[in-house]
Amino acid sequence: MNIGQEVLKLLKEEITEVEYNRYIKQLKYDEEKSSSDLAIFLAPNALVSNWIKSKFTKKLEHLFEIKTGNKVSIVISLKTESKKVVNKKIIEQKNAVHSLLNPSHTFENFMVGGSNQFAYAATKSVSEKAGQLYNPLFIYGGVGLGKTHLMQAAGNVFQNQGKIVIYITLEQFLNDFSRALRNKTMERFREKYRQCDVLLVDDIQFLSSKELLQEEFFHTFEALRGVGKQIIITADKHPKKIAGLEERLQSRFEWGLVADIQPPELETKIAIIESKSKINKVKLTKEIINYIATVIDSNVREIEGILSKLHAYSQLMHVDIDLEFTKNVLKDQMQENRENITLEGITQVVAKDLNIKPSDIRSKGRSKNIVYARRICIYLCRELTQNTMPTLAQYFGMKDHTAISHTLKKINSLMQNDEDFKAKIEELTNKITSTS
Ligand code: ADP
Ligand code: MG
Repeated sequence: MNIGQEVLKLLKEEITEVEYNRYIKQLKYDEEKSSSDLAIFLAPNALVSNWIKSKFTKKLEHLFEIKTGNKVSIVISLKTESKKVVNKKIIEQKNAVHSLLNPSHTFENFMVGGSNQFAYAATKSVSEKAGQLYNPLFIYGGVGLGKTHLMQAAGNVFQNQGKIVIYITLEQFLNDFSRALRNKTMERFREKYRQCDVLLVDDIQFLSSKELLQEEFFHTFEALRGVGKQIIITADKHPKKIAGLEERLQSRFEWGLVADIQPPELETKIAIIESKSKINKVKLTKEIINYIATVIDSNVREIEGILSKLHAYSQLMHVDIDLEFTKNVLKDQMQENRENITLEGITQVVAKDLNIKPSDIRSKGRSKNIVYARRICIYLCRELTQNTMPTLAQYFGMKDHTAISHTLKKINSLMQNDEDFKAKIEELTNKITSTS
């Protein structure tokens, strides 16, 4: 078994069987072209390739690093792609100090409606006048509402003008920072982030309570902004609502413009589905598009998964995509979404969001923040999975089911009386249902 196959085998254990069969199984490792710092996989078509690129690149990188000890760049190419295209991809990948921008994240591909008009207009005007208008531009909103897309749309404009653009998620920034600390290469780290023309930082809410990283980010921010370099930031909430964020950062995040994105209205969802189906070359009737738009909730991220599934099924079964067929596929998808939600998964999401360890949540710890997190977990587990109260009691180390029912009552009454708390629960629910 070659290293590529070994990594895919490891990946198989981390993902669902359906995901594996539908996507990963179709990948072939290109042993000949790959090297110690580069792994090339061949995908049968663009849908599979895009899906793997967006969902599994990080995991693959991580697994290669575990297996080989090297930092390995992942290239997913199409079986039919010419040598030239593959070579270009390899060069791009090797030069990347950060993630590449997705070229289809453009302003033209972004459907505008009341829910995202403001954020769209703000980002568009920033893209026309880097560093001069709103700096930083801070975009916030729930999962899958188009924050990354908008930010990268501006990034693509800048990149086409020849500007050096760094797009990075806060998690990547953290990893890079920790590596630089460990290897004593802080100088190089600082230089890298200070020599760009535009810095795009995605999902900055994860700065929450990371003091050292906040300090570092503060100086990067100051250095760039001081010389008029454009900074765009996204988060899942307003700077004021990010717990454990230093005041000086919070106030700086509000210096430019803070723009929110709301969940899309039905018409916007329809426009997005139409556009995505064109981009992905999946033919859908108006009736089907309307149906999908009404069934899915606000999280637009699901649309691509649904399209890819419709496409794959219709090809496999040699049938046209009609309404009946769509209904079945969607039903399948919803069920799958639910089955993928586990007690471990929920505990992990909550722990990460509240900055405590998953093991603390399941411990007997009685400190205020642990109890708070545990209660939220219990509530979400009850809402989002089929587990019984005794099972939950056992999982969370509570005495018996009455303790669980007591907790549920508490949370329900909090939800009724505290808008912020309710919003938090909704945010977490969104995260759990969109990551599983
Ligand atoms: P977020 O970063 O807010 O979680 P993303 O930007 O990753 O969300 O968007 C999720 C998916 O939905 C992406 O594929 C993106 O292209 C698509 N999307 C979101 N909003 C729109 C929109 N208004 N028009 C077109 N596509 C959109
Ligand atoms: Mg995003």
